Amino acid sequence: MYAKGFDTQTLETIRKWVSDAHRIVLLSHMNADGDACGSLLGLLLQLDRCATEAVSIIPVLPNGCPRNFTWLPASDRILNGDTQRTLCEQAIDEADLLICLDFSQANRIDFLQEALLRSKAHKLLIDHHHSPATEQFDVIVSDPDISSTCELVAWLSQALWNCRYMHREAAQCLYAGLNTDTGGFAFSCDQPSCFEAAAYLVGYDIYPAEIHNQIINTFSVNRMRFYGFALSERLYIYPEQRTALFHFSLADQQRFGVSGEDMEGLINYTLMIHDIEVGALVREEVGRTKVSLRAKYDVDVNLLARQLGGGGHTKAAGATCYMTYAETLDAVGKLLGINDKTPLPQ
Ligand code: 5GP
Ligand code: MN
Repeated sequence: MYAKGFDTQTLETIRKWVSDAHRIVLLSHMNADGDACGSLLGLLLQLDRCATEAVSIIPVLPNGCPRNFTWLPASDRILNGDTQRTLCEQAIDEADLLICLDFSQANRIDFLQEALLRSKAHKLLIDHHHSPATEQFDVIVSDPDISSTCELVAWLSQALWNCRYMHREAAQCLYAGLNTDTGGFAFSCDQPSCFEAAAYLVGYDIYPAEIHNQIINTFSVNRMRFYGFALSERLYIYPEQRTALFHFSLADQQRFGVSGEDMEGLINYTLMIHDIEVGALVREEVGRTKVSLRAKYDVDVNLLARQLGGGGHTKAAGATCYMTYAETLDAVGKLLGINDKTPLPQ
C-alpha cells in the first residue's frame, strides 16, 4: 500500500475535474521513456473506464511514442507533436482538463509548453521529480521518493475511483513504466510500495516476463551492432575520476541507422564497470545535444544536470543543451572534471 496516501481535498478536486470535464488532454515529456508512455496510457485506459462516457481523452507526446513502446496498448491513440503539431495545440487549447505526467517543468514538453502555459484548463501534475514548478499547475500530486510516475498513477487511480478492478491493459502499461524506471527493480525501489504496486498490477492477469521481453529482448540487429561499436570505440573511461563517458556524433548514429530511442539503457553499461561511479552519455541531435547522467552511489547527478539547464533524479538525470556537440562535450567534461585528463586507451 502507498503509506503516504493522498490528501482528501486533492482527491475530491480531481474527481470533480474529471467528472465535469468534456475534453481531457494527457501530456508527457519529450523523448518519452517507459514511465512517460506507461503512465500516459495507463491513466488513459483507467479514465476510459472511470470518466463519464461523453468525455474525449487525448494523449499527447511532443515527439511521439518511441518505437520500442508502440507495443503498449492504446499507443495508436497518441498524438505526436512533431507530425501533428496543429492537432496537438488545438487539443490543448480546447481542453478543460490537462493532466501532465512524469515531468515537473513545462519546458520538458518543448514547443508545446506555450500551449500548456496559456491554457485556461485545470492543470493537474502527477510526477516524481524534485522541485515541481508550482506556478505552472493548479494541483500537484508529486512524490520524489516513489519509484515512478506509473506507481503513483496506480495508487492514485485506486484512491480516486476505488477501482478494485483495474483495466488489464492499464496494468500492463503501468507495470512497464514501473519496470523501466527502476531498471528492472534494481534502483529507485527502496520503498516497499514499489513491490506492492508490482504485486497489485500483476494481480490483473499480466505477465512480467512477456513485458520484459517486449522492453528488453527486441533489439534490431543494427542496434546490437551499434552497442558493440559504442562499447569498443566510443566509451571513454577515466578510472581516477571514477567516470565513464559515451559520446556519439550524428555521423556515428547515421552509420548504424540508430537514434536516441535505440540508446535507451546503453548508459547503464558505464556503471557496470568496477569502481566507476558516474556515467555520462552525450548524443548529438539536429540543433541540440542531449546529455544523460547516472550515478552509482553518492554523487547527485541531478545537481550536475541542473548546471546544464536540465534536471531529474539523484541517480538518473539529463539535460537538453542548445549548444553544438563540441560545446556540450566541453561543458560536460568541465562538470565531470575530465577535460584535461587522458582516458584509458581504447
Ligand atoms: P535520460 O538520461 O534517460 O534521458 O533521463 C533520465 C532522467 O533525467 C529523466 O527521467 C528525467 O528526469 C531527466 N531528464 C532527462 N532529460 C532531461 C531534460 O532535457 N531536462 C530535464 N529537466 N530533465 C531531463
Ligand atoms: Mn519517471
